[in-house]
Amino acid sequence: MTQSAAVRAFEDAFARWVGLPHAFAFWKGRVALYAILRSLGVGVGDEVILPGYTCVMNVNPIKYVGATPIYADIEPLTYNVIPDLIEKAITPRTKAIIAQHTYGYPCEMDEILEIGRRRGLPVIEDCCLSLGSTYKGRLCGTMGVAAYWSFQWNKPFTMGLGGVACTADRELAGRIESLCAESLVRPSAKTAGMLALQRTIYRAFIYPRTTALATRLFRWLTRVGLVVGSSSTEEFSPTMPDGFFMGMSDSQAKAGLRQTRKIDRNISHRRRMRQLYEELLRERNCPVVDLPEYVDPVLVRYPVRVADKARAVAEAPGRLVELGTWFECPLHPIETPMEAYDYIVGMCPEAEKACREVVNLPMHVRAARRTARRSVEFVAGIGWPEEGGE
Ligand SMILES: *Cc1c(COP(=O)(O)O)cnc(C)c1O
Repeated sequence: MTQSAAVRAFEDAFARWVGLPHAFAFWKGRVALYAILRSLGVGVGDEVILPGYTCVMNVNPIKYVGATPIYADIEPLTYNVIPDLIEKAITPRTKAIIAQHTYGYPCEMDEILEIGRRRGLPVIEDCCLSLGSTYKGRLCGTMGVAAYWSFQWNKPFTMGLGGVACTADRELAGRIESLCAESLVRPSAKTAGMLALQRTIYRAFIYPRTTALATRLFRWLTRVGLVVGSSSTEEFSPTMPDGFFMGMSDSQAKAGLRQTRKIDRNISHRRRMRQLYEELLRERNCPVVDLPEYVDPVLVRYPVRVADKARAVAEAPGRLVELGTWFECPLHPIETPMEAYDYIVGMCPEAEKACREVVNLPMHVRAARRTARRSVEFVAGIGWPEEGGE
């Protein structure tokens, strides 16, 4: 199909913001990854390396093209993949590396890009949780051969659902364009309309839906088929559902264009919130991540380790704390049949430990100083994990 004028306008605006010449908009972020993988020629029998601390929807496109995901463990401070472990995971079948900027913390890109160069492998940046983070002055998303963003409810900037792939590589852009012309399907008026209605309802009543209640409601509605969910039951299976390769609707594109105009405000709010969280957490003797001065992360939510995650999750709604639980398992969410996705428990011990300990705190545009104070008081009441222990 050919893109509508509204979708093109969003693609152009987003490309301009990122500073890359080519952007392609999709129904979801995972569809953008699928387009990138297909266009890089990743297929049956190939392997793709990514961190074992991700969401299953990110792994699905790898399975859909017939490739095998290979999981590399993360380092415990930024939750990002360890470059040496990427190198160790490379085999003759490896076809691509995914660098996921977890929570918005930039990956060690120079090391990862160097491995890619040395081994002749393309590096794809997963920017679904990182809007505006920089590494040595370079915007995340502009360093690899291609990058993708998600605009799903929990992401730094949202149209309910949505995704985009960007690249500076003309040849790759040409291949993505042909693939879209050939097989991208347009969302039906009903599907697009349902999403637009949901956006209105969520904004009015239960935004942000990361509260436990809203999440549960949302998952239930998804199960009974009442929403255009970000993850219907069939997407917990590694076979591609019909109509997966879907473009962005006009109403998503229009909402996206409005969001794009507010990106800079969104980013400066997140920068302020991170500083605030760090101050509040230091006051409570919570160890705060010491980052090298060449990274400037813009976080989606503030991750923090607690002594008793189950208790925190159970008590947060009663205390009106919007506690985020991801990632609950190496391939979030917990419903994922991990063996079907080639993950064997024990593969990534640091990631598994993070799943047991990490919760995340809100920093979206409606969260203010008061939200941060209440959230930090709450997690401090749960307590921090013991040094080196569980
Ligand atoms: C949300 C997310 C995705 C997938 O985005 P969708 O728009 O839901 O398909 C991929 N990677 C990461 C790290 C994410 O958080």
